[in-house]
Amino acid sequence: MSSRVFVKPDMEKYLFKGEVRYTQAIDQHLKMMRSIFCKQKGKVPAEEIYYLFIGERTDTGILVTELIDISGQRQESQVIISLVDVERVATEKWIMGTYHVHPVGSLEPSRADFLSSVAESAIAGHPLIHIIEDPDGGKLTWDFSQCFTSLFYRMMKDAG
Ligand SMILES: [Zn+2]
Repeated sequence: MSSRVFVKPDMEKYLFKGEVRYTQAIDQHLKMMRSIFCKQKGKVPAEEIYYLFIGERTDTGILVTELIDISGQRQESQVIISLVDVERVATEKWIMGTYHVHPVGSLEPSRADFLSSVAESAIAGHPLIHIIEDPDGGKLTWDFSQCFTSLFYRMMKDAG
């Protein structure tokens, strides 16, 4: 029916090359949250957790210093991200990025992850860094800071 085609960006180009670190308190909190929300590992559906984060640049990458939970709404175990929430936070703080967990399956960003990341960056007014973790702490981190134009081109070129 629809002729719209979503072209997934080539992730290799967008991987965040720096090191991602957490404060000790945040690291402990995330381990706890992963164990709670991902206890159904291997079963579908499982709940996701989703945070905006505040952070600092370090010599080697970034340090996450504060988490802001915006995963208040869930529908059929999927987190519903409210862009109004993102905007509210963005008026108060300089958002560095987002964090969420893929309880099952691959770390690869979903189509929804790409689309929401573009919207969140637009609202924040700068490209955000996006962290996805699995229940065991495996991590994929990406940002579009160097490649906004080519990203949009690639996403849309086959969309007609
Ligand atoms: Zn995701």
